[in-house]
Amino acid sequence: MRSVPRVWRERVTKYRLIGGACKDCGKTFYPYRRSCPVCGSDNVEPRKLPETGVVETFSIVRSPPTEFVGQAPYVVALVRLDDGTLVPAQITDVEPDEVHEGMRVEAVLRRYREQGEKGIIEYGIKFRPVISNE
Ligand SMILES: [Zn+2]
Repeated sequence: MRSVPRVWRERVTKYRLIGGACKDCGKTFYPYRRSCPVCGSDNVEPRKLPETGVVETFSIVRSPPTEFVGQAPYVVALVRLDDGTLVPAQITDVEPDEVHEGMRVEAVLRRYREQGEKGIIEYGIKFRPVISNE
C-alpha cells in the first residue's frame, strides 16, 4: 500500500488545534498521539483544545536548522493553553525581543516551512500575541 505523504496525514490535526486526552490519567497534550506521554496508556481520544493561552517559557532561535534560515531570528515557546495543555510552538507577528513569559497568545495558521526544490509549503499552528483593545 502506498503511504500517504506526511504532510497530508498531519493536515487535519494541524489545521485545528487537536490534541489528545488520556482517559486514564486525565492529561491532555499536543500534538495528538496514540499513547499518552504521561502514563503510557493507549486509552487516548482526540480533543479540540482551546486556541488561547499564555507563554510559559520561550527561547529566541538565531541559528536555526537550514530549512528555517529565512525566518531567523524567531521565537519558540511552550504555550500553556487555557485548559492547562502545554504546546510547543513558534511565536509569530511580534519582535522576538517583545516576547515575555505570561504573554497572552492565540493560535493562528501560518506557513511553517517550504520543502526543498519541490516547494511544498506546509502550514501549521503558530501563536501570536492577543491584540487587546485597552
Ligand atoms: Zn495518561
